[in-house]
Amino acid sequence: MKRLIIAIDGPSGAGKGTIARTVAERLRYRHVDTGAMYRAVAWKALHDRIAVDDEPAVGALAQRSNIELDAGRVLIDRHDVTKEIRTPEIDKAASSVARMPRVREALVSRQRRMAEGGGIVMEGRDIGTVVFPTADVKIYLDASADERARRRMNDPAHSGGQAGQAAVAASIEARDRSDTTRTASPLTMAADAVLIDTTGLPIPQVVDRVMALVNERVQRSS
Ligand code: C5P
Repeated sequence: MKRLIIAIDGPSGAGKGTIARTVAERLRYRHVDTGAMYRAVAWKALHDRIAVDDEPAVGALAQRSNIELDAGRVLIDRHDVTKEIRTPEIDKAASSVARMPRVREALVSRQRRMAEGGGIVMEGRDIGTVVFPTADVKIYLDASADERARRRMNDPAHSGGQAGQAAVAASIEARDRSDTTRTASPLTMAADAVLIDTTGLPIPQVVDRVMALVNERVQRSS
């Protein structure tokens, strides 16, 4: 059976992580969280005391660093940063480095290599538009701003500190603004993506929707 490339895009808190992981498990495909790659580059820049607005330096860092994504762990140059990249400081720094074309070029070419042979569920902001414009299935997940802020607050992987919902909502909004208005690969829905609004929808229902689209695609190609 053809091993597909499944692209899942959308803003923070839309449910991409949970949905992409579950769909990948069901299909026995590889799951790749590209946001973790931008976060790892931002973490390394801060760690090496490189200014996150110094594009040549951060671009070179993205080029030379080795990023491994394996079974939910994130390593950069052998340093396990799985936990450290889920903080408000890295939220901000990742969205700064993600604006830089040089950083994007370095990461996008690796993302394309990871999908050689198919069998992958890749989530991010530009997967269906830039990384794999010809992906077999393209999903755009969205949810109301309130719901996304609530989910982020309740996410045990994310150390949100003691910030209240208003602060979390403000930080998500700032990130959305940066992601949708940047010149390099802004967050936008691909013309041929299927939009799923996950507001108020239980996870299993969203997974079923995605699996139905995947099965349709498989039937069409067989
Ligand atoms: O998905 P996550 O919130 O972990 O992504 C962190 C940041 O990385 C996002 O705010 C966005 O700026 C950037 N990103 C991106 N392109 C992707 C994935 C993430 O620009 N494909």
